[in-house]
Amino acid sequence: MNTIRLKKGRERSVVKGHPWVFSGAIAEGEAVAGEMVEVCDASGAKLGQGWYSPASQIRVRIVPDAPIADLVAEAVGRRAAFYADDAVTAIRLVNAENDLIPGVIADCYAGHVVCQFTSAGADARKEEIADALMKFAPFCQSVSERCDVDSRAKEGLPTEPAFRVLRGAEPPELVEIAENGVKFLVDVRKGHKTGFYLDQRDARATVGRLANGADVLNCFCYSGGFGLFARACGAESVTQVDISGDALALAKKNEALQHYCGTKMEYVEADVFQFLRKCRDAGRKFDFIVLDPPKFAATKGQLMKAARGYKDINLLAMKLLKPYGTLATFSCSGAMDAAFFDTVLAEAAEDAHRRFQVIARTRAGADHPVLLSFPEGAYLKGVVLRSIT
Ligand code: SAH
Repeated sequence: MNTIRLKKGRERSVVKGHPWVFSGAIAEGEAVAGEMVEVCDASGAKLGQGWYSPASQIRVRIVPDAPIADLVAEAVGRRAAFYADDAVTAIRLVNAENDLIPGVIADCYAGHVVCQFTSAGADARKEEIADALMKFAPFCQSVSERCDVDSRAKEGLPTEPAFRVLRGAEPPELVEIAENGVKFLVDVRKGHKTGFYLDQRDARATVGRLANGADVLNCFCYSGGFGLFARACGAESVTQVDISGDALALAKKNEALQHYCGTKMEYVEADVFQFLRKCRDAGRKFDFIVLDPPKFAATKGQLMKAARGYKDINLLAMKLLKPYGTLATFSCSGAMDAAFFDTVLAEAAEDAHRRFQVIARTRAGADHPVLLSFPEGAYLKGVVLRSIT
């Protein structure tokens, strides 16, 4: 096994359990893409081992000294409670670094597992990983791969074909899943990420519980998630807004899967930044607004620009709230931590001349665990604010 020797003093983060070794921390040593390497401190003492990525700034990803099939079996085993819960048929089985399998995402949609392999080491081991998922994931019918993800390009990995079956049968064009009483169709081939935002499951349930009787505006609705929970919980009306016509078409199909109810549903294909301004100019108000935008900051360098974007939409939404209204607002930018997000919200509230109470905070569910020594894992944060003026 090749050895990677770190610069003096640069072993701290590995010792503390952080899974990434950046190129700048390395004194000497190299290997081919995906190869297992030994990582040593400056004096040559072994710290651990990891997968080598010559094309990436994250040059080595630390992995345990165990067969990959065992790591997959353990990750799946930690989800046993989800398999016991019939109300949820779509879960994340492997959450990459947080499950000690760097760069491997595996999401299971009613027995169809969809993976992303976003590090060279993960990509090199995908056949073994697919075999292990077929063997250890309960009710697994197929294992597929999505390659159309930006982080693969950064690792020098091909981004085509966008979708490929690795094991088992071709999944249906749209896979039907259940999430706490609401049904969704998941487009595993062309949908965002692996097809669905599983990380917002708990937040969707929280929003549903608070939306009874409300006129709800669901911004960045994708396939309808938050809006369909509000509907299921007795919202008076739901306006679903997204810039993508395909997302809205799927959201409408998803509405048709649900039980009848009297909630008035409206679908708007628009840029949320413009739509919120249009509502303001028209004097339109809502009891409940959901803001679940895409990632505004991919890196720390984009943080200040992202903060302006978050402040803009949150300020606009706060102004559109009726008295005593509720705002459920999210950020999935890993570069923006929860404290900074709170600061942005407080500034928006000040400019909106409204006072708010925090009535809930949300994060990704227990199938998206975050490794304590890897703060980057906690990218998603949600705040539910109630206006008290
Ligand atoms: N809340 C959703 C996930 C939202 S993902 C759920 O629970 O499933 C973010 C969505 O924002 C995507 O569907 C994307 O099409 C949409 N989007 C991105 N930029 C937008 C913009 N400027 N205006 C409106 N929608 C936008």
